[in-house]
Amino acid sequence: MQTDAYIGLGSNLKEPAAQLAKAVAELAVLPQTTLIAQSPFYASRPVGPQDQPDFVNGAVWLSTELTPHTLLDQLQSIEQAHGRKRHRHWGPRTLDLDLLVFGNQTLDDERLTIPHRELPYRDFVLQPLLDLNPDLTLPDGVAIASLRSQCPDNQLRRLPPPDYP
Ligand code: AMP
Repeated sequence: MQTDAYIGLGSNLKEPAAQLAKAVAELAVLPQTTLIAQSPFYASRPVGPQDQPDFVNGAVWLSTELTPHTLLDQLQSIEQAHGRKRHRHWGPRTLDLDLLVFGNQTLDDERLTIPHRELPYRDFVLQPLLDLNPDLTLPDGVAIASLRSQCPDNQLRRLPPPDYP
């Protein structure tokens, strides 16, 4: 069975836009998975500690036969391949991949919370989701568009097309 899955991408180290572009290419070739669309990339000020570079964020829409946990395994191995090291919470990172939405499923266990816990509060997550699918709703029926209109502004700047493939 195919499920629509939305993945958030973020980076603020080692040429963030290039990290994201490479990650999109890697997501596109995951097993039992098709890339439906990729969002524009956005630059934003970091959440939390301000003594770090701006972030670049985006999102992709996948159609997958993988389970949520197998998809998370795949995301974590892509993060590792990008040399991600866990330092401080909300600190700088070469690549962060989040499973934002997985069909109409809700899940809350020791590895996975779906929809992603911070999704409603982050303009750099909501805006790329809206770009991908303006009609997207969460399993509880709340529209992403409505969350975006209520979300605090984090000085999101859409990057011009030459900065992403
Ligand atoms: P982070 O440091 O933000 O990348 O958080 C990674 C941790 O969040 C991992 O241990 C995951 O198991 C957990 N996690 C919980 N829910 C999600 C989700 N929806 N997407 C990605 N990671 C998640």
